[in-house]
Amino acid sequence: MSKTAIVMFGAPGSGKGTQAKYLMDTYDFIQLSTGDILRGLKKKSESDLTDSQREAISVMDSGRLVSDELVSQLLADEIETSQSSKIIFDGFPRNETQITIFNDLMQKFEFNRIIPVYLEVSDEILIDRMKSRIKEMKEAGLPVRADDTPETLEVRLDTYHRDTEPVINYFEKSSDMIMLKADAHTTKEEIRDQLNEMIMPKCCL
Ligand code: ADP
Repeated sequence: MSKTAIVMFGAPGSGKGTQAKYLMDTYDFIQLSTGDILRGLKKKSESDLTDSQREAISVMDSGRLVSDELVSQLLADEIETSQSSKIIFDGFPRNETQITIFNDLMQKFEFNRIIPVYLEVSDEILIDRMKSRIKEMKEAGLPVRADDTPETLEVRLDTYHRDTEPVINYFEKSSDMIMLKADAHTTKEEIRDQLNEMIMPKCCL
């Protein structure tokens, strides 16, 4: 049986979560977002958390990356439980160590088709988008993520350039990556249509 993994790359605010959702709804993929899985830890009661989970929450809130061991364990559990043969990875692998973890997981769970997707957006646009997102959430009285502050966004962007860009370079060299570029005027529908056209023959024909 063929098992397909889509790997979404893009900086904070690039819209990769939105595009991942579209692919889930259209092609029956499940999405594993390491950010969402980690934020799920916050819903647990304090006494149910292990020391490493408690540590992960505070690292996450500061905008840095949580430990590779924890991410690896959480993902192995999720892949196992889901039993899915079509998974979108959102937010993983995020540094060079996680490339090995990713390759090991793909081998262990027998995923034989890997499709990396990269949404390229300039820092300038990302910062503008994030600022308006925070403002809109506050105006609507909705909770703002603990790591959605201008200072933490800067840390997240630095971490992205330093740790995640080398991962994107690796995937670009080792597989046939789908690259989509957004400027200030590109709508999410345009990105969605481009993505759809490029991914369908690879994943879903
Ligand atoms: P964004 O891409 O908007 O920064 P995410 O929701 O993907 O947000 O991640 C939020 C935070 O969760 C990250 O800043 C980091 O602390 C943690 N995190 C998510 N994925 C990983 C990962 N693969 N490895 C380590 N930490 C991660």
